[in-house]
Amino acid sequence: MKMQESLTEELAQSIRAIEDYPKKGITFRDITTLLQKARPFRRAVDALVHPYIGIGLDQIAGIEARGFILGGAIAHQLTAGFVPIRKKGKLPGEKVTIAYSLEYGVDEMEMHRDAIKPGEKVLLVDDLIATGGTAEAAVKLLQEMEADVIAACFVIDLPDLGGRKKIEALGVPVRTLIEFDGD
Ligand code: AMP
Repeated sequence: MKMQESLTEELAQSIRAIEDYPKKGITFRDITTLLQKARPFRRAVDALVHPYIGIGLDQIAGIEARGFILGGAIAHQLTAGFVPIRKKGKLPGEKVTIAYSLEYGVDEMEMHRDAIKPGEKVLLVDDLIATGGTAEAAVKLLQEMEADVIAACFVIDLPDLGGRKKIEALGVPVRTLIEFDGD
């Protein structure tokens, strides 16, 4: 009988590495190959959900776009709401905006001003944390709306890029399921 593979092994086998995408020197960690496999997708969502069962999370905030897929599944499992954090210009209602640094230049992300009520318990979700710039901006946006950001969770950590420390410096614990070396 085949022993059950560990979650880490199953994730490592399901996440595809694409070299030199979106530019030379970057190894893109592609989770579409994880999402299309029912069992590892389910196991990843279950593992992300597990620490937060029964603590009364109000909202799951997902970062566009892969954070929407994971965040929607997590919100369903925890019976929480879902709040999209989107790239500039996509949300129709009154918004709050934050600028953040990318490798070249700056970008902006937005959420609806009325999406979070002060004191609501929020879990931030994305597929991967690299330098942490994206998640840091999202946490600041949520904290500006007086959310109680309980944690930030990601399937993948690239620890060489130091993103975790940036988020922890904002008082938000970080949880990830698998680490890969390099960028
Ligand atoms: P960062 O702001 O550097 O932490 O980058 C995180 C965001 O960029 C996430 O939304 C990721 O989906 C995406 N990202 C950054 N690096 C990679 C990578 N090597 N593979 C896949 N996605 C990445």
